[in-house]
Amino acid sequence: MTDTLAPTVDAVPTERRVVTAIPGPRSTELHARRTAVVSAGVSSALPVYIERAHGAILVDVDGNAFVDLGAGIGVTTVGHTIDTVVEAAREQLGDVLHTLFTITPYEEYVRVCELLAQHTPGDFAKKSVLVNSGAEAVENGVKIARKYTGRNGIAVLEHAYHGRTNLTMAMNFKASPYSTGFGPFAGDVYRAPNSYPLHDGLSGADAAKRTITYLEKTVGASDLACLVVEPIQGEGGFMVPADGYLPALQEWCTANGVVFIADEIQSGMARTGAYFASEHFGLVPDLVLSAKGIAGGLPLAGVTGRAEIMDASQPGGLGGTFGGNPVACAAAIAVFEHIESEGLLAAAKRIEGVLKPALLELQKRFPIIAEVRGIGAMIAIEFADPATHEPLAEVPGTVAAYAAQQGVLVLTAGTYGNVIRFLPSLAITDEQLRDAVGVIGDALAAI
Ligand SMILES: *Cc1c(COP(=O)(O)O)cnc(C)c1O
Repeated sequence: MTDTLAPTVDAVPTERRVVTAIPGPRSTELHARRTAVVSAGVSSALPVYIERAHGAILVDVDGNAFVDLGAGIGVTTVGHTIDTVVEAAREQLGDVLHTLFTITPYEEYVRVCELLAQHTPGDFAKKSVLVNSGAEAVENGVKIARKYTGRNGIAVLEHAYHGRTNLTMAMNFKASPYSTGFGPFAGDVYRAPNSYPLHDGLSGADAAKRTITYLEKTVGASDLACLVVEPIQGEGGFMVPADGYLPALQEWCTANGVVFIADEIQSGMARTGAYFASEHFGLVPDLVLSAKGIAGGLPLAGVTGRAEIMDASQPGGLGGTFGGNPVACAAAIAVFEHIESEGLLAAAKRIEGVLKPALLELQKRFPIIAEVRGIGAMIAIEFADPATHEPLAEVPGTVAAYAAQQGVLVLTAGTYGNVIRFLPSLAITDEQLRDAVGVIGDALAAI
């Protein structure tokens, strides 16, 4: 895959192209500078330094082009540097950069809240608060649920990931690397068993019974403010819960006055072929958390939900200096428009239609693939020893390293580190996808 390209390219190509060793000399140089000044606590999965990007392609400082199957962990869901999104942000840059919505408001914030009210599940009056990051959305969701219910307890599920702030560290399943050594942690967080069909073999009803029994016995519904669930768990490994599991949890929450919060930070914003993955399970969450894909790459997040819950907070209780920045809001409005005008819900289904069969073919060739799962452009493969069912934690990293050398960027995931996740942008073409899966197949054949 090498050709005679100049070390850097102006236009972003439409296919992968490897012109140097990976990482190349310029990336290696930058990495040395980085190591001197960037905290060791911030790591990079693939230390190639990116200079430009478009659609589903990243170009590094050495002129290598990568097919991007990670989209910055599901952030550039509409694609990198989509013209209408860039234009909207650029225009806003010249108008106003910041006022602080809690001092003097502006229309773009209001418009984003209108769009969130329109596109989140449920046909009732909804309101939102906009913040800067996913973890901040989780924190605000919990604050709002506590204020509304007058209760303290937070229920989360095994294998969950909710962020890196103090409260969200306590809500994560996995200690390493997220919280090891960073305590003390917030209390009143209760972690219930989830539905993980490949591992527990339970029906949705049985898994829900197990979750609910756990919460009733270890906390008691009357002490719970909220249950926070990712409809499809992200960092945990894209587990799709068994049929009926999530609706049973929601029903229990509703019956017991527990606020049902869907953390759609990774699964939302058209990624699964619906605006929010909750729709696939017939869920109508009380609160929906969005972030990652909402503004095409600019930092923005939100909590959206039932007006009476969202209005429980005293004025001044919610907000923050940068929350709902005008440029990020302008980009988000363009993202919603782009999803509609380009039919991106259908694009997510198209991607599933290419990716799933291709990965199922790989599963036939490589029995270490224990499962292919996911919805839309949120698909994963989990690796296990076919005889012992033990997780094969070394495989995803080896495959990702091989793929990087060939110009394909793919991410790993999973509590046991034995999952490869595919969350490409919805701009990726069938050709780019098939080519990338071919590389994954070559990688598996090589190990
Ligand atoms: C990424 C993520 C978060 C945290 O978002 P940040 O913007 O990194 O703070 C929370 N929940 C889920 C499901 C996520 O995928």
